Amino acid sequence: MKKPKVVILGAGYGGLITSKKLAKLLNAGEAEVTLINKHDYHYITTQLHKTGVGTASDDRITLNIADLIDHHKIDFKKGKIASVDLNARLVRLESGEDVQYDYLLISLGFGVQTFGIPGIKEHAFEIRSFRSTKKIFHHIQKQLVAYKEDQDPSRINFAVAGAGFTGIEMIGELIEGLPALCEATGVPYEKTRIISVEASPTLLPGFEKEAIDYSTELLKQEGVEILTSTKIKEYNGVQIRIDNGEDIPTRTLIWSCGVKGNDLIDKMGVPTIQSRIIVDKDLRVPGFKNVFCIGDSSMFMKDEKTPYPPTAQIAIQQALTCGDNIVSAIRGQQLKSFEYHHKGSVASIGDRAAVGKIGKLTIKGAFAALMKQVIEMRYLFTLGGPALVFKQFFKRWHSTP
Ligand code: FAD
Ligand code: NAD
Repeated sequence: MKKPKVVILGAGYGGLITSKKLAKLLNAGEAEVTLINKHDYHYITTQLHKTGVGTASDDRITLNIADLIDHHKIDFKKGKIASVDLNARLVRLESGEDVQYDYLLISLGFGVQTFGIPGIKEHAFEIRSFRSTKKIFHHIQKQLVAYKEDQDPSRINFAVAGAGFTGIEMIGELIEGLPALCEATGVPYEKTRIISVEASPTLLPGFEKEAIDYSTELLKQEGVEILTSTKIKEYNGVQIRIDNGEDIPTRTLIWSCGVKGNDLIDKMGVPTIQSRIIVDKDLRVPGFKNVFCIGDSSMFMKDEKTPYPPTAQIAIQQALTCGDNIVSAIRGQQLKSFEYHHKGSVASIGDRAAVGKIGKLTIKGAFAALMKQVIEMRYLFTLGGPALVFKQFFKRWHSTP
């Protein structure tokens, strides 16, 4: 009998954890599973802000996919997905290769929301992938070196747009890593400016007041200029125009104003909201019983009006249910409804501080930073057991130019 063919698109949190679950559940020879990803490495998205400032070495953030999968049960194919035809059950790669499937998992992650603001797509930096954040690191270094030549202050003003969790983590990392980059290039750190621009009246809008107050105070103490109730209207690569008509001179605008689903999602011919597919309770794409979608490319509704936010925590939990459901679908068994169990949220502010909420408890400072490390290690443990946690722990901290 022909073996069913399962194809997983994207080896991020959702795709990789699903492939691990499938490898565990499927009997030998029960199905052919192919995991397709743009690169041959998996990047730890929740640590990408570190890549942007070079506070973690590349081999801490990227892991070789071949080392993480069970080769007896999973085939890995490196390739960029160009399109997906859900009716023809066909995935086309940019190389021109077509991959046929019986069951499909779409776990292609997120794209950046730019809201059509002029100049953002062209000139701002994104915290979207390992490559996009590595560009930030090289750009900062280049600006520091060039500043020594021309003393142009726009080179050493570093602006971060959006002070949600991503923006706060990016600002925290700039505070952590910029002094060392300045020292290496001979630019006095005191001359640099770190500017946080947030449209809402506070940093971390909607989060706990205690956490907002703590982060605001800490950032101020570190000399960060905080512009709240300030919307970015335009950016030309050299200056930001804000909504009161003023300009901020900077050649570095790091855009962290929210996410949407992967651009490919809009081309799949199914209804989407913000490039995310609203999935059913079993994590399937409506109208396609053989197609699942999880993580940031999906929208899972908490109730009729509210979707769950796009987080790694949800992507991982969905992956575990999705693994079960793909196997049940193959075996003709009943599928499970996905249930989300929120374990808390913690945002780092550099390595020594963080803010978060676990259960009803707001946490901050060094204890919260420790909790953040524990969360990251737990993920590594899920991916590769104690050996991976141990291996990653002893890697270099800082990136080299
Ligand atoms: P991803 O992990 O983004 O994986 C998508 C995969 O698809 C990638 O490997 C990508 O290369 C691949 N891909 C994309 N397009 C193609 C293509 N065309 N062809 C082939 N492959 C493709 N969430 C938390 O819960 N906790 C945190 O602490 C946290 N911190 C964060 C910090 C930062 C700086 C950022 C940016 C996000 C953070 N998040 C956090 C959110 C979290 O990272 C995302 O929700 C999570 O990565 C979503 O997982 P995913 O599997 O849907 O997508
Ligand atoms: P977000 O939507 O949470 O925050 C975006 C921020 O940008 C908002 O505060 C918004 O007011 C602001 N903004 C929007 N337009 C603006 C403009 N024109 N000018 C200035 N400010 C503007 O997005 P995010 O922070 O990228 O987070 C995305 C998802 O990833 C969320 O679900 C988040 O929870 C998750 N995440 C989690 C963690 C963590 O748990 N540690 C870290 C990072 C991200």
